[in-house]
Amino acid sequence: MKQLPDLWFDATKCFINGEWVAPIGGEQLALTDPSTGAEIGSIARGKSADIDAAVAAAEDARHGEWGRMPAFEKGRILNRLGRLILTKTEELARLEAIDVGKPLTQARNDVIAMARYMEFYAGAADKVHGETIPYLDGYTVYTMREPHGVTGHIVPWNYPMQIIGRSVGGALTMGNTCVLKPAEEACLTALAFADLARQAGLPKGVLNVVPGLGAEAGKSLSNHRGIHHMSFTGSVGTGQSIQSAAAQNVIPVTLELGGKSPQLVFDDADIDAALPFLVNSGIQNAGQTCSAASRILVQRGVYDEVTSKMAAKYRELQVGPALQDLNVGPLISARQKDLVTGFLAQGNDLNIAATGEIIATAPAGGNYIAPTLYEDVAPDHPLAQNEIFGPVQTIIPFDDEAEAIQIANGTDYGLVASIWSQNGARQFRLAKALDAGQVFINNYGAGGGVELPFGGVGKSGHGREKGFEALYGFSKLKTVAALHG
Ligand code: NAD
Repeated sequence: MKQLPDLWFDATKCFINGEWVAPIGGEQLALTDPSTGAEIGSIARGKSADIDAAVAAAEDARHGEWGRMPAFEKGRILNRLGRLILTKTEELARLEAIDVGKPLTQARNDVIAMARYMEFYAGAADKVHGETIPYLDGYTVYTMREPHGVTGHIVPWNYPMQIIGRSVGGALTMGNTCVLKPAEEACLTALAFADLARQAGLPKGVLNVVPGLGAEAGKSLSNHRGIHHMSFTGSVGTGQSIQSAAAQNVIPVTLELGGKSPQLVFDDADIDAALPFLVNSGIQNAGQTCSAASRILVQRGVYDEVTSKMAAKYRELQVGPALQDLNVGPLISARQKDLVTGFLAQGNDLNIAATGEIIATAPAGGNYIAPTLYEDVAPDHPLAQNEIFGPVQTIIPFDDEAEAIQIANGTDYGLVASIWSQNGARQFRLAKALDAGQVFINNYGAGGGVELPFGGVGKSGHGREKGFEALYGFSKLKTVAALHG
């Protein structure tokens, strides 16, 4: 059995109250390398008793040293954590690459993004202020931003480091204590993060990590009565059950549930500038990206040019093991590969403009899918409507602006959109008209954007993470009205 690289933390345990502890039930889950299909180790199978212990530790911690710590001191800890993450860039990138199956360069970007979250939030920790409100004569009224208390974080396997950074980072900044349930498919960097947070000086119990299955540890956490806020990223179905659980406990919930994001390319666009964004946004992380631009809407005047240029790029794409650092790695699991293969079968009636290539030496047990670009797809085709979560893009032609808007807004989702056009008036019109949480003009998802509020509309979810907006979500507002005459 091929083993993981040497780790500086115990990947087989939970991290609760500042200690590495075996799951109470003593069970482990197999850890599989998506690049080979081989079992490479095991992780804790945390269950409800472990979640209980983690929530109790987080509850204690919020009344202790952390609760009394000045905001700027919290910021200093986050700053140290950011620096520690950067000193471990290569180790973390390798771990994420092996665990998720993402090419090393992409994993390295995720490490840097996680550090950036810590840096951004560190600086913001003492800058989220309340207001004074003019009221009746004889009153002084002001507002205070307070932590919710214990926050639950259920994260998926596609970008563990980035999503933990934006979610746990934001919650810690506002003084919450956290219980994190990483995905069973990829949780190594969540555990690494907990250990680095300990090294950075985060007090015991402020961050607790319980790996385990969604139906066990995840469900226990989302239903737990000791949680005061829940942040979830993942599928629509699971998001709905998380929201139901939050409704039972009457707590706020942030849901980020993916999308079917469009890029709109108009006749006056700079096609060559757009090209890398059009392709990378679809194949990055093998298309397993909530903000993947899986729909490319192209005006008919440049339709042939865009299609042939994208197809040429697709033919150059190489797919192989994560550590070979090619353009595209494997999908996370055999299950995800089956899901994507099922979608591709629904595209049998479509024209394939081009595919990428799985390298000949790719291990047979890896979860490889050749990137596939479909052309001339009708907007209501299942491949243009459903989130595929694989390296698959559809090109959809349109005639004019009105039709482009109608197609762009014509799915259940609304996470990200982009407009490629030199026409300033059109840029502003469309930025208003598009149903999405983020709209990019002549770029797409640039640079990760830890500063930029992010989240969706419709089935993409609700609530915002990243930027200062995240910090408002991870805190509750108290109004104080003093009558002093
Ligand atoms: P999922 O939503 O089931 O899993 C995401 C997280 O939720 C994991 O940590 C999982 O353990 C946990 N979870 C699962 N069931 C739970 C439950 N009942 N209660 C509490 N937590 C639970 O997603 P998946 O099954 O891994 O992937 C399926 C599809 O979801 C993908 O094909 C993709 O379309 C979508 N997805 C979206 C994102 C995103 O970033 N928005 C991420 C992953 C998957």
